[in-house]
Amino acid sequence: MAQRRSRGPGREHNDRVRLVTAIVIDGREIARASRARTAERVAAFTVANGYAPGLATILVGSDPASAVYVSNKRKAAAEAGLVDVHHHLSGDAAHEDVADLIDRLGGDSRVAGILLQLPLPANLDKSALIDRIVPKKDVDGLTARNQGRLARGEPGLRPCTPAGVIELLDSARVKVEGASATVIGRSDLVGHPAAELLLRRGATVTIAHSRTRDLPAVASQADILVVAAGIPGLVGADHIKKGAAVIDVGIHRTATGLSGDVRFDEAASVAGWITPVPGGVGPMTIATLLANTIAAAESAAKDLANRGIQ
Ligand code: NAP
Repeated sequence: MAQRRSRGPGREHNDRVRLVTAIVIDGREIARASRARTAERVAAFTVANGYAPGLATILVGSDPASAVYVSNKRKAAAEAGLVDVHHHLSGDAAHEDVADLIDRLGGDSRVAGILLQLPLPANLDKSALIDRIVPKKDVDGLTARNQGRLARGEPGLRPCTPAGVIELLDSARVKVEGASATVIGRSDLVGHPAAELLLRRGATVTIAHSRTRDLPAVASQADILVVAAGIPGLVGADHIKKGAAVIDVGIHRTATGLSGDVRFDEAASVAGWITPVPGGVGPMTIATLLANTIAAAESAAKDLANRGIQ
Protein backbone atom coordinates (compact mmCIF):
# COMPACT_ATOMS: atom_id res chain seq x y z
CA MET A 1 0.00 0.00 0.00
CA ALA A 2 1.26 3.45 -0.89
CA GLN A 3 3.54 4.99 1.66
CA ARG A 4 6.21 7.58 1.42
CA ARG A 5 9.32 8.13 3.48
CA SER A 6 10.23 11.75 3.72
CA ARG A 7 13.79 12.68 4.57
CA GLY A 8 13.28 16.41 4.28
CA PRO A 9 13.84 18.69 7.25
CA GLY A 10 10.84 19.08 9.53
CA ARG A 11 9.59 22.35 10.96
CA GLU A 12 11.75 23.74 13.70
CA HIS A 13 11.14 22.77 17.30
CA ASN A 14 13.25 24.22 20.07
CA ASP A 15 15.34 25.95 17.38
CA ARG A 16 16.57 22.61 16.01
CA VAL A 17 15.82 21.21 12.59
CA ARG A 18 14.78 17.55 12.77
CA LEU A 19 14.80 14.98 9.99
CA VAL A 20 11.57 13.18 9.18
CA THR A 21 12.86 9.62 8.92
CA ALA A 22 9.65 7.70 9.66
CA ILE A 23 7.53 6.07 6.98
CA VAL A 24 4.50 8.31 6.64
CA ILE A 25 1.37 6.14 6.43
CA ASP A 26 -0.84 7.57 3.71
CA GLY A 27 -4.35 7.29 5.13
CA ARG A 28 -5.91 8.99 2.11
CA GLU A 29 -4.56 6.35 -0.25
CA ILE A 30 -5.45 3.43 2.02
CA ALA A 31 -8.95 4.86 2.49
CA ARG A 32 -9.33 5.36 -1.27
CA ALA A 33 -8.53 1.69 -1.86
CA SER A 34 -10.96 0.61 0.86
CA ARG A 35 -13.72 2.80 -0.60
CA ALA A 36 -13.13 1.36 -4.06
CA ARG A 37 -13.51 -2.17 -2.65
CA THR A 38 -16.72 -1.11 -0.91
CA ALA A 39 -18.11 0.44 -4.11
CA GLU A 40 -17.53 -2.88 -5.92
CA ARG A 41 -19.38 -4.77 -3.17
CA VAL A 42 -22.26 -2.25 -3.26
CA ALA A 43 -22.55 -2.65 -7.04
CA ALA A 44 -22.60 -6.44 -6.73
CA PHE A 45 -25.19 -6.25 -3.92
CA THR A 46 -27.38 -3.94 -5.99
CA VAL A 47 -27.36 -6.28 -8.99
CA ALA A 48 -28.03 -9.34 -6.83
CA ASN A 49 -30.82 -7.81 -4.75
CA GLY A 50 -32.42 -5.30 -7.11
CA TYR A 51 -31.91 -2.31 -4.82
CA ALA A 52 -29.00 -0.34 -3.38
CA PRO A 53 -28.59 -0.50 0.40
CA GLY A 54 -29.13 2.70 2.36
CA LEU A 55 -27.06 4.46 4.99
CA ALA A 56 -29.26 6.52 7.31
CA THR A 57 -27.64 9.46 9.05
CA ILE A 58 -29.33 11.33 11.89
CA LEU A 59 -28.15 14.79 12.84
CA VAL A 60 -29.76 16.45 15.85
CA GLY A 61 -29.18 20.19 16.26
CA SER A 62 -26.84 22.48 14.40
CA ASP A 63 -23.33 21.86 15.73
CA PRO A 64 -21.21 23.11 12.79
CA ALA A 65 -18.49 20.43 13.10
CA SER A 66 -21.11 17.66 13.24
CA ALA A 67 -22.85 19.11 10.18
CA VAL A 68 -19.57 18.95 8.25
CA TYR A 69 -18.85 15.36 9.39
CA VAL A 70 -22.35 14.19 8.41
CA SER A 71 -22.18 15.93 5.06
CA ASN A 72 -18.81 14.23 4.31
CA LYS A 73 -20.23 10.83 5.28
CA ARG A 74 -23.32 11.31 3.10
CA LYS A 75 -21.22 12.37 0.13
CA ALA A 76 -18.90 9.39 0.52
CA ALA A 77 -21.87 7.02 0.88
CA ALA A 78 -23.42 8.30 -2.34
CA GLU A 79 -20.09 7.98 -4.15
CA ALA A 80 -19.90 4.33 -3.06
CA GLY A 81 -23.37 3.72 -4.53
CA LEU A 82 -25.22 3.60 -1.20
CA VAL A 83 -28.57 5.35 -0.88
CA ASP A 84 -28.29 8.46 1.28
CA VAL A 85 -31.14 8.54 3.83
CA HIS A 86 -30.69 11.67 5.88
CA HIS A 87 -32.75 13.06 8.78
CA HIS A 88 -31.98 16.40 10.38
CA LEU A 89 -33.87 17.04 13.61
CA SER A 90 -33.94 20.35 15.45
CA GLY A 91 -31.79 20.80 18.54
CA ASP A 92 -34.87 20.79 20.78
CA ALA A 93 -36.12 17.41 19.49
CA ALA A 94 -37.57 15.26 22.27
CA HIS A 95 -35.91 11.99 23.23
CA GLU A 96 -38.97 10.04 22.02
CA ASP A 97 -38.87 11.75 18.60
CA VAL A 98 -35.30 10.59 18.05
CA ALA A 99 -36.09 7.13 19.45
CA ASP A 100 -39.14 6.78 17.13
CA LEU A 101 -37.06 7.75 14.12
CA ILE A 102 -34.38 5.18 15.05
CA ASP A 103 -37.11 2.53 15.41
CA ARG A 104 -38.61 3.41 12.01
CA LEU A 105 -35.21 3.17 10.32
CA GLY A 106 -34.55 -0.08 12.17
CA GLY A 107 -37.68 -1.55 10.58
CA ASP A 108 -36.89 -0.33 7.06
CA SER A 109 -35.37 -3.24 5.14
CA ARG A 110 -33.75 -0.90 2.60
CA VAL A 111 -31.74 0.83 5.33
CA ALA A 112 -28.63 -1.25 6.02
CA GLY A 113 -26.94 1.08 8.47
CA ILE A 114 -27.96 3.77 10.96
CA LEU A 115 -25.57 6.42 12.15
CA LEU A 116 -26.54 8.75 14.99
CA GLN A 117 -24.10 11.65 14.81
CA LEU A 118 -22.50 12.54 18.14
CA PRO A 119 -22.38 14.65 20.23
CA LEU A 120 -26.11 14.93 20.93
CA PRO A 121 -27.79 17.88 22.66
CA ALA A 122 -27.47 17.57 26.45
CA ASN A 123 -31.20 16.88 27.02
CA LEU A 124 -30.98 13.56 25.12
CA ASP A 125 -29.88 10.29 26.70
CA LYS A 126 -26.99 9.34 24.44
CA SER A 127 -26.54 5.75 25.67
CA ALA A 128 -30.26 4.96 25.49
CA LEU A 129 -30.53 6.30 21.94
CA ILE A 130 -27.42 4.48 20.73
CA ASP A 131 -28.77 1.24 22.19
CA ARG A 132 -32.07 1.81 20.38
CA ILE A 133 -30.23 1.11 17.10
CA VAL A 134 -30.72 -2.47 15.92
CA PRO A 135 -27.25 -4.00 16.52
CA LYS A 136 -27.15 -5.36 12.94
CA LYS A 137 -27.52 -1.79 11.62
CA ASP A 138 -25.15 -0.23 14.15
CA VAL A 139 -22.50 0.75 11.60
CA ASP A 140 -20.69 2.92 14.17
CA GLY A 141 -20.25 -0.16 16.39
CA LEU A 142 -21.27 1.74 19.51
CA THR A 143 -24.26 -0.19 20.88
CA ALA A 144 -23.73 -2.10 24.11
CA ARG A 145 -24.35 -5.30 22.14
CA ASN A 146 -21.59 -4.63 19.61
CA GLN A 147 -19.18 -3.33 22.24
CA GLY A 148 -19.87 -6.48 24.26
CA ARG A 149 -19.20 -8.62 21.21
CA LEU A 150 -15.92 -6.82 20.69
CA ALA A 151 -14.94 -7.41 24.32
CA ARG A 152 -15.79 -11.11 23.95
CA GLY A 153 -14.01 -11.41 20.61
CA GLU A 154 -17.25 -12.30 18.81
CA PRO A 155 -18.11 -11.14 15.30
CA GLY A 156 -19.92 -7.81 15.13
CA LEU A 157 -19.75 -4.32 13.68
CA ARG A 158 -16.64 -2.57 14.98
CA PRO A 159 -16.30 1.16 15.78
CA CYS A 160 -15.10 2.96 12.67
CA THR A 161 -12.12 4.95 13.89
CA PRO A 162 -10.47 2.11 15.87
CA ALA A 163 -11.08 -0.36 13.04
CA GLY A 164 -9.51 2.21 10.70
CA VAL A 165 -6.46 2.37 12.97
CA ILE A 166 -5.99 -1.39 12.63
CA GLU A 167 -6.34 -1.20 8.85
CA LEU A 168 -3.67 1.51 8.72
CA LEU A 169 -1.28 -0.69 10.73
CA ASP A 170 -2.02 -3.70 8.53
CA SER A 171 -1.62 -1.74 5.30
CA ALA A 172 1.75 -0.45 6.51
CA ARG A 173 2.67 -4.04 7.46
CA VAL A 174 3.28 -3.15 11.09
CA LYS A 175 3.35 -6.40 13.06
CA VAL A 176 0.67 -6.26 15.74
CA GLU A 177 0.83 -9.79 17.14
CA GLY A 178 3.29 -9.89 20.00
CA ALA A 179 3.89 -6.13 19.88
CA SER A 180 3.69 -3.93 22.92
CA ALA A 181 0.94 -1.36 22.24
CA THR A 182 -0.08 1.69 24.22
CA VAL A 183 -3.31 3.54 23.58
CA ILE A 184 -3.53 7.04 25.04
CA GLY A 185 -7.23 7.63 25.73
CA ARG A 186 -9.99 5.35 27.02
CA SER A 187 -13.17 6.75 25.44
CA ASP A 188 -15.97 4.43 24.30
CA LEU A 189 -15.64 5.91 20.82
CA VAL A 190 -11.91 5.52 20.22
CA GLY A 191 -9.43 4.62 22.96
CA HIS A 192 -11.15 1.68 24.63
CA PRO A 193 -12.25 -0.13 21.45
CA ALA A 194 -8.84 0.53 19.85
CA ALA A 195 -7.22 -1.19 22.83
CA GLU A 196 -9.68 -4.12 22.54
CA LEU A 197 -8.94 -4.55 18.85
CA LEU A 198 -5.19 -4.50 19.44
CA LEU A 199 -5.60 -7.00 22.25
CA ARG A 200 -7.65 -9.32 20.01
CA ARG A 201 -4.89 -9.09 17.40
CA GLY A 202 -2.35 -10.37 19.91
CA ALA A 203 -0.70 -7.17 21.14
CA THR A 204 0.21 -6.66 24.79
CA VAL A 205 -1.85 -3.57 25.52
CA THR A 206 -1.53 -0.68 27.96
CA ILE A 207 -4.24 1.98 28.18
CA ALA A 208 -3.07 5.40 29.34
CA HIS A 209 -5.43 8.23 30.30
CA SER A 210 -5.58 11.52 32.13
CA ARG A 211 -4.68 9.90 35.47
CA THR A 212 -1.64 8.05 34.12
CA ARG A 213 1.55 8.96 35.96
CA ASP A 214 4.58 9.77 33.82
CA LEU A 215 2.99 9.43 30.39
CA PRO A 216 6.30 9.71 28.48
CA ALA A 217 7.71 6.73 30.44
CA VAL A 218 4.61 4.61 29.74
CA ALA A 219 4.22 5.60 26.10
CA SER A 220 7.88 5.19 25.20
CA GLN A 221 7.75 1.45 26.01
CA ALA A 222 5.36 0.85 23.11
CA ASP A 223 6.10 -0.62 19.70
CA ILE A 224 2.70 0.74 18.64
CA LEU A 225 1.46 4.03 20.07
CA VAL A 226 -2.14 5.08 19.35
CA VAL A 227 -2.81 8.61 20.51
CA ALA A 228 -6.45 9.56 21.11
CA ALA A 229 -6.37 12.07 23.95
CA GLY A 230 -7.84 15.08 22.19
CA ILE A 231 -5.01 17.30 23.44
CA PRO A 232 -3.20 19.20 20.67
CA GLY A 233 0.51 18.35 20.49
CA LEU A 234 0.45 16.17 23.63
CA VAL A 235 2.94 13.62 22.30
CA GLY A 236 6.50 14.42 21.30
CA ALA A 237 9.78 12.62 20.77
CA ASP A 238 10.15 11.80 24.47
CA HIS A 239 6.94 9.69 24.34
CA ILE A 240 8.12 7.51 21.47
CA LYS A 241 10.28 4.40 21.34
CA LYS A 242 12.73 4.51 18.46
CA GLY A 243 11.19 2.79 15.44
CA ALA A 244 7.66 2.63 16.90
CA ALA A 245 4.48 2.98 14.85
CA VAL A 246 2.66 6.15 15.92
CA ILE A 247 -1.00 6.55 14.99
CA ASP A 248 -2.40 10.00 15.68
CA VAL A 249 -6.18 9.99 16.08
CA GLY A 250 -6.51 13.55 17.39
CA ILE A 251 -8.02 16.25 15.20
CA HIS A 252 -7.86 19.92 16.06
CA ARG A 253 -8.87 22.89 13.96
CA THR A 254 -6.35 25.70 14.23
CA ALA A 255 -5.93 29.00 12.44
CA THR A 256 -3.38 27.32 10.15
CA GLY A 257 -5.39 24.15 9.44
CA LEU A 258 -5.85 20.75 11.05
CA SER A 259 -3.39 19.31 13.56
CA GLY A 260 -3.25 16.23 15.77
CA ASP A 261 -2.29 15.10 19.27
CA VAL A 262 1.25 14.35 18.09
CA ARG A 263 3.97 16.90 17.35
CA PHE A 264 4.53 15.47 13.90
CA ASP A 265 8.00 16.61 12.87
CA GLU A 266 9.52 15.87 16.24
CA ALA A 267 7.83 12.45 16.46
CA ALA A 268 8.72 11.56 12.87
CA SER A 269 12.42 11.86 13.68
CA VAL A 270 12.09 8.99 16.20
CA ALA A 271 9.18 6.84 14.98
CA GLY A 272 9.44 4.07 12.39
CA TRP A 273 5.95 4.80 11.00
CA ILE A 274 3.66 7.74 11.60
CA THR A 275 0.26 8.99 10.44
CA PRO A 276 -0.11 12.64 9.46
CA VAL A 277 -3.01 14.94 10.38
CA PRO A 278 -4.74 15.56 8.08
CA GLY A 279 -4.47 12.53 5.79
CA GLY A 280 -4.02 9.74 8.35
CA VAL A 281 -6.77 8.31 10.55
CA GLY A 282 -9.50 10.77 9.48
CA PRO A 283 -10.11 9.37 5.97
CA MET A 284 -10.17 5.83 7.39
CA THR A 285 -13.11 6.59 9.68
CA ILE A 286 -15.40 7.27 6.73
CA ALA A 287 -13.97 4.39 4.69
CA THR A 288 -14.70 1.99 7.57
CA LEU A 289 -18.22 3.38 7.97
CA LEU A 290 -18.91 2.53 4.32
CA ALA A 291 -17.32 -0.92 4.69
CA ASN A 292 -19.46 -1.57 7.78
CA THR A 293 -22.59 -0.52 5.88
CA ILE A 294 -22.08 -2.91 2.99
CA ALA A 295 -21.12 -5.66 5.45
CA ALA A 296 -24.39 -5.01 7.33
CA ALA A 297 -26.36 -5.11 4.06
CA GLU A 298 -24.73 -8.38 2.96
CA SER A 299 -25.34 -9.95 6.34
CA ALA A 300 -29.03 -8.87 6.36
CA ALA A 301 -29.52 -10.26 2.84
CA LYS A 302 -27.93 -13.54 3.91
CA ASP A 303 -30.23 -13.75 6.94
CA LEU A 304 -33.27 -13.18 4.72
CA ALA A 305 -32.11 -15.83 2.24
CA ASN A 306 -31.54 -18.30 5.06
CA ARG A 307 -35.00 -17.63 6.47
CA GLY A 308 -36.48 -18.04 2.98
CA ILE A 309 -34.89 -21.48 2.71
CA GLN A 310 -36.22 -22.64 6.09
P1 NAP B 1 -12.51 11.99 24.63
O1 NAP B 1 -13.83 11.29 24.77
O2 NAP B 1 -12.38 13.38 25.13
O3 NAP B 1 -11.42 11.07 25.34
C1 NAP B 1 -10.12 11.53 25.52
C2 NAP B 1 -9.34 10.52 26.32
O4 NAP B 1 -8.01 11.01 26.46
C3 NAP B 1 -9.87 10.27 27.72
O5 NAP B 1 -9.86 8.90 28.00
C4 NAP B 1 -8.92 11.04 28.61
O6 NAP B 1 -8.68 10.43 29.87
C5 NAP B 1 -7.63 10.97 27.82
N1 NAP B 1 -6.77 12.10 28.11
C6 NAP B 1 -7.12 13.40 28.19
N2 NAP B 1 -6.06 14.15 28.53
C7 NAP B 1 -5.02 13.31 28.67
C8 NAP B 1 -3.66 13.48 29.03
N3 NAP B 1 -3.15 14.68 29.28
N4 NAP B 1 -2.87 12.39 29.08
C9 NAP B 1 -3.36 11.17 28.81
N5 NAP B 1 -4.65 10.94 28.47
C10 NAP B 1 -5.47 12.01 28.41
O7 NAP B 1 -12.06 12.04 23.10
P2 NAP B 1 -12.31 10.96 21.92
O8 NAP B 1 -13.70 11.06 21.44
O9 NAP B 1 -11.76 9.65 22.31
O10 NAP B 1 -11.39 11.62 20.79
C11 NAP B 1 -10.00 11.78 20.97
C12 NAP B 1 -9.44 12.61 19.82
O11 NAP B 1 -9.67 11.92 18.61
C13 NAP B 1 -10.12 13.98 19.64
O12 NAP B 1 -9.14 14.91 19.18
C14 NAP B 1 -11.13 13.73 18.55
O13 NAP B 1 -11.44 14.90 17.80
C15 NAP B 1 -10.38 12.75 17.70
N6 NAP B 1 -11.21 11.88 16.87
C16 NAP B 1 -10.83 11.71 15.59
C17 NAP B 1 -11.54 10.87 14.76
C18 NAP B 1 -11.08 10.68 13.36
O14 NAP B 1 -11.86 10.24 12.54
N7 NAP B 1 -9.82 10.99 13.07
C19 NAP B 1 -12.67 10.21 15.24
C20 NAP B 1 -13.03 10.37 16.58
C21 NAP B 1 -12.28 11.20 17.39
P3 NAP B 1 -9.84 10.29 30.99
O15 NAP B 1 -10.69 9.14 30.54
O16 NAP B 1 -9.08 9.99 32.22
O17 NAP B 1 -10.56 11.59 31.01
